[in-house]
Amino acid sequence: MKALVKTERLSKYFPVGGLLRPRGYVKAVDNVDLEIYEGETLGLVGETGSGKTTLGRLILKLIEPTSGRIVFDGVDITRLSGEKLREFRRKAQIIFQDPYMSLNPRLTVYQTLLEVIKVHKLPISDPEEYIAKMLELVGLERGQLHRYPHEFSGGQRQRIAILRALILEPKFLVLDEPTSALDVSVQAQILNMLKDLQKRLGLTYLFISHDIGAVRYMSDRIAVMYMGKIVELGPADAVIKEPLHPYTQALISALPVPDPRAARGRKTLLLQGEPPSPINPPPGCRFYPRCPYFIKGKCDKEEPQLKEVKNGRYVACHLY
Ligand code: SF4
Repeated sequence: MKALVKTERLSKYFPVGGLLRPRGYVKAVDNVDLEIYEGETLGLVGETGSGKTTLGRLILKLIEPTSGRIVFDGVDITRLSGEKLREFRRKAQIIFQDPYMSLNPRLTVYQTLLEVIKVHKLPISDPEEYIAKMLELVGLERGQLHRYPHEFSGGQRQRIAILRALILEPKFLVLDEPTSALDVSVQAQILNMLKDLQKRLGLTYLFISHDIGAVRYMSDRIAVMYMGKIVELGPADAVIKEPLHPYTQALISALPVPDPRAARGRKTLLLQGEPPSPINPPPGCRFYPRCPYFIKGKCDKEEPQLKEVKNGRYVACHLY
């Protein structure tokens, strides 16, 4: 499979306590090697502060990496600028969690989308007709073209935000918790629409969420992040049914099970304590202070590397 996105030893460290004389650094993303295949949805899960949103923003060049490389569609984009960067921005877009915050309340749908067309100098001869047709793509009607964001429901606003990204005909979308600000009743509609759009337009998604049910529904593969590291990666069903890393086992154990018979045989694990300080992460495996399988003298000394342990299944843990 062809990798559309590839990160190589990608890191982002944020200074703490002042830029000039930092007290330390939060290693939000630390030496991440990851591939996202063309046409797939890669789900990215982990607790708040695990680094998943930072990784999504790094891949889109919304923030600069501290070190490492990002390759998009065969091109090293790590140091892109000027026209080449604008070209990349057309191909790779983001959908944020809160559609209301990401839309300008003073612009109608038409004005919002026209602005995108103008900024990116898209060669469209009749923008109003074009935008009206595009509205149908996300389940809205042309009669809604000249309405303001406050006249729409949360789900409709998210449809407009998705359309604003699609108007540039991107190849790749980072979906950063795209439904978590919406009513439960409309979450499934938006997820289904995103799946449908992916098929019709040949899109590739990085789906970031802490909702493992939604990630399973959307994703072909799942990557699990803990304190800036990918600790497990594999096909979505396999990761959910048979999680390998103790942290993934704890995340899955926390899911409510509608049919307890379906969970028979699955390892259950309760997370102990809070994540350690991200400024001074523990040596060795960062999960060791919370891990019931901790091997003294090994887990607290040697950092486990992400390695393939079964076909397409990767885990960073000394148990394997
Ligand atoms: Fe637990 Fe050791 Fe595996 Fe880390 S490497 S998850 S501490 S068993």
